[in-house]
Amino acid sequence: MGLDEDLENLRKLASKRIDKSLEIVAKDRKYLAKAIGLKYFPIAITKAEGSKVWDADGNEYIDFLTSAAVYNVGHRNPRVVKAIREQIDKLLNYTVVYLYMEPCVRLAEKLVSITPGKFNKKVSYGFSGSDSVDSAIKVARAYTKKRCILSFYGSYHGTTYGSLSATGIIDESIKTQVFPLADIKFVDFPDPYRNKWGIDGYEHPDELTSRALEEVKNKIKECTSDIAGLLFEPIQGDAGVIIPPEEFIKGLRELADTHGFVLIDEEVQTGVGRTGKFWAIEHFDVVPDVLVSAKALGGGMPISAVVGRSEIMDSVSPPMLVFTHAGHAVSASAALATIEAVEDENLIAKAAEMGEYIIKRFREMQDKFDIIGDVRGKGLLIGVDIVKRGKEPDRKGALKICWRAWEKGLIVISFGRNGNVLRIAPPLNIPREDVDRALDIIESSIKEFLEGKIPDDVIDYLRGW
Ligand code: PMP
Repeated sequence: MGLDEDLENLRKLASKRIDKSLEIVAKDRKYLAKAIGLKYFPIAITKAEGSKVWDADGNEYIDFLTSAAVYNVGHRNPRVVKAIREQIDKLLNYTVVYLYMEPCVRLAEKLVSITPGKFNKKVSYGFSGSDSVDSAIKVARAYTKKRCILSFYGSYHGTTYGSLSATGIIDESIKTQVFPLADIKFVDFPDPYRNKWGIDGYEHPDELTSRALEEVKNKIKECTSDIAGLLFEPIQGDAGVIIPPEEFIKGLRELADTHGFVLIDEEVQTGVGRTGKFWAIEHFDVVPDVLVSAKALGGGMPISAVVGRSEIMDSVSPPMLVFTHAGHAVSASAALATIEAVEDENLIAKAAEMGEYIIKRFREMQDKFDIIGDVRGKGLLIGVDIVKRGKEPDRKGALKICWRAWEKGLIVISFGRNGNVLRIAPPLNIPREDVDRALDIIESSIKEFLEGKIPDDVIDYLRGW
């Protein structure tokens, strides 16, 4: 089927006007490498404000995706926009590789003060979650003079070489196309709902913890203690919002202390207030050695940061953490304004409160619909596990529900190890009426899915997770 015919089918399939978007989709397909995305809906976003976005044809949507958990403070948060404007009127950027600049110093000072741990800390910068994970791996290896990095199945850490190699959710067959780094070892993450041990981790968190920690210990033995660091998301995001038992994360801290490796808290998706704490690790009362932040940190501008114990961060020599644009003045100013917005607009408490409300509404839906197997989350990082026959993941079902929700005016996608989890990640300051409308849309989309009203053909157009 030619490209035009394919897009023509898509135009007919969608119950809304998407002509202008399709012109952009056609060029995207022609000129952009297919590996840059896992596309969902055929729309180009042209405008955004708060918790809403608009496409090229003027269709309005409530945004439960927030550009992949980026707009914690809402689209075009006024503080962020103001900070960007003020900065661009003075200076776009000047490299801190050779000279000095205030915004990135001020941001570093702020990051040091708001991350867990009372010890001396230092900061390095990048632009994406991926590169900051690489930097964390570098400092852990340089500090310990060891090679091996422990990571978890189901984790997503990025696509640069280090972060890709440490990513557990991408198929081995895909990773090996580009020959990832060696010396990364994987262990199972304790998923309370669906795990290989068949343990109900909600009922028996201690049993799940001890089984999972046992595997970590065995892997440490297997690596003959050549471990530089353990890299983990305190709550796995792209795996489908997997919240481990509290004692598990505490156990990782103990193992790091016993064996002298660096505990790397990867908060690219969970940070900046998303989970109802500034950092998700605070739910577990654990202090990491190194913390990685990106995505929401810049309020929509690209910036990432690694914040770690000074002696670890300074164990690696220049220019190992150099990037010409690192700590970019516009992004750093936006990041400072983002943190200020989270603090001054009380967004952490709002996320916690709205998260509870949303979970309650999904639990009510769960009573009505057997296809909702599990509802889990902290703050506004929430996953709704769509199943058939018991706990069997229903990826296609989840995609169909997302498609219909999109047609009705809500951007919500699926993710997870099995691609069957609805990803609920609105801005932390989303108004209640938008939440109610979005949840009504999801509920009616589930009903229409159960009534067989969503055609199978839509699946062909959703690459998805
Ligand atoms: N870590 C986590 C936990 C993520 O969710 C992501 C992005 N999904 C990344 C790292 C990679 O971030 P980026 O795409 O900005 O490189």
